[in-house]
Amino acid sequence: MPELPEVEITARLLDRELAGREIESVAAPGINALKTFAPPLGALEGQHVAAVRRRGKNLILESDGGLVLLIHLMSAGRLQLFDKRAGPRDRTSRLLVRLAGEAGRDPAELRLREFGSKQAAWVKLLEITELEGEEALAKLGPEAWPDPPAGEELRKLLAVPRPLHALLRDQRVIAGIGRSWVDEILWEARLSPFKRGSDLDEAELEVLREAIVGTLGRALAHYEDTLSLPIPDKLPMPLLVHRHEGQPCPRCGTTLEAVHFEDYVIAYCPAEQTEGRVLKDRRMSRLLR
Ligand SMILES: [Zn+2]
Repeated sequence: MPELPEVEITARLLDRELAGREIESVAAPGINALKTFAPPLGALEGQHVAAVRRRGKNLILESDGGLVLLIHLMSAGRLQLFDKRAGPRDRTSRLLVRLAGEAGRDPAELRLREFGSKQAAWVKLLEITELEGEEALAKLGPEAWPDPPAGEELRKLLAVPRPLHALLRDQRVIAGIGRSWVDEILWEARLSPFKRGSDLDEAELEVLREAIVGTLGRALAHYEDTLSLPIPDKLPMPLLVHRHEGQPCPRCGTTLEAVHFEDYVIAYCPAEQTEGRVLKDRRMSRLLR
């Protein structure tokens, strides 16, 4: 499930490899993935990649001709670079960007692939002037990393009576955190996932901010050390708490517990985050703030 660190490392590695390269052709075999029709994909042909970057969990590929591909991987997408073209039977392909061969470099194919049965990943081709007004970006809150709001600004941002676990995953509040990293951040901050944003005191806000910056930054540093192109199908996420329920807390040794929801799981250390209380059912989680 790609979140800020996974999308950021994808953007960095692709930017280093693709900047300056000529786009030979673009195709969208996953026809439902392409959400725009003007300009047409063919408008990118002959242009060069200017940069690949990230905003929230979105990837942005800019061309030197003033166009941008805005890509959201959703829960199961990957943006991978290969030196061979995808075969017609590759059912995971949603978008193919072919890079021309040039002096000292072979042709390559940038492929948006998606695993699993759902088609949720999407792509938009926009004029660069339309990018900031595009709804997927216009509604995003400030970036969670490297420099999220601090002090009074952060207090105002989180001053709503919603559980931290939901609040921090809301991209309109703060951009980049999802179901995996939120568990790690709250564990790092020793805060209950069910505590309300409006109940945080000044010291807790500061600890939370440090945990956000530190946790996401360490994940990114780990990826810089371990990943290269193409980004692997299965990301080696360095998680300590998320999906580790039933195992000892890496800090205090208490057994990590989990609350199961329909489509996700909250993992936490009861000794350090919920004053020893163990809740496994979401109806009970209302009691645990
Ligand atoms: Zn613990």
